[in-house]
Amino acid sequence: MAEKNLQVLMASIKPQLHKDTFVFCSVSESVFNSLKVEPISVFRETEGVSITIEKSAADAASLKYEGTWSLITCEVNSDLNAVGFLAAMSKLAAEAGIPVNAVSAYHHDHLFVPTERAKDAMRLLQEAATKPPMPTRAPISDIRVLIPHIFNDHKAFKAMGSLLTQGVALISSRFGYSLPDDMRIFYERCSDVKVSDRYTFLSLQKALDTDRAKLPRSWMPFCETPDGNLIAIDLSNPDDTYPIIDLNNLEFDHLVVALSFTEFIDKILSHDGSSVFWIDHDKQYGTATVYLNNNQLRKKYQDYWNSLSDEYGPELCKAELCKHKRIKLSIFCKQHQFEQIHQIPCPFSQDAPVENFAEYQLKN
Ligand SMILES: [Zn+2]
Repeated sequence: MAEKNLQVLMASIKPQLHKDTFVFCSVSESVFNSLKVEPISVFRETEGVSITIEKSAADAASLKYEGTWSLITCEVNSDLNAVGFLAAMSKLAAEAGIPVNAVSAYHHDHLFVPTERAKDAMRLLQEAATKPPMPTRAPISDIRVLIPHIFNDHKAFKAMGSLLTQGVALISSRFGYSLPDDMRIFYERCSDVKVSDRYTFLSLQKALDTDRAKLPRSWMPFCETPDGNLIAIDLSNPDDTYPIIDLNNLEFDHLVVALSFTEFIDKILSHDGSSVFWIDHDKQYGTATVYLNNNQLRKKYQDYWNSLSDEYGPELCKAELCKHKRIKLSIFCKQHQFEQIHQIPCPFSQDAPVENFAEYQLKN
């Protein structure tokens, strides 16, 4: 499928440098017809036929040209409607002082750059492909500076003070930790906040009412996207951060999308809102894995556990040091059969952790 999202396109550029050297010439129709080698591109102008052709072929036909060019093809199936993709790539090169002649063909976009700058251009494009898109403005790290932007450009109402005091107290008792300062300031000043029709902020009451059975206690959902997906903050301040977590991901492996509430606000305000801002950077900050307490796990696996037979033996379980007898149709006891199949500690045999908990793999 052709890609229309500019940032996805930028992130997926696979620039390929062709080994041939090309030149641009303008020739008459008769010269054009006598060429022994087919030009790679042809454009008919009133003044003549404008061709791009391999340098060796141009030399063989004694054609006049200025400068030699290398061809870089961007191996992304760029939709012709992806307005701005070529512009963005050309801009990158222009900023580095590399002249670019861009051609949009049916399947790919192509860039002609002066042969002596081809390696520089390749490096630029490769960097653009691995780096997240440049923010359009410098990041703002003060929530007080960001809040006026919310009121000016998005939907928000002034917050009601009395509800807040109550809510803040409830949050601490329910989640076990207080709100970080930036988040408290946000809730003190605005309510019913909606940014880009994509991020709807929950009132403190709503945050308290969300179903958190599968979340660690300190995770507070605070924002919702149009498909009903929730975004949470971990109030327990692991690694001196306040991870913002996308709860939509794999069941127990969640994406960390920012390291503070302010950073999250800053990013949603500076992003164009065409998608969630982290769609392009995937695992920029790493992930959080949730481990459910054993009550949750038991509920989940009760049917499987019940389906296992008693430990008849007479052979012992094959797991190392295990003194249990084996169950029917297995070389293991119940616990080890469970662990073999599900690859997690058996919740029916181990000491139960009291609460769900998260383990982070944070990158910085
Ligand atoms: Zn065993």
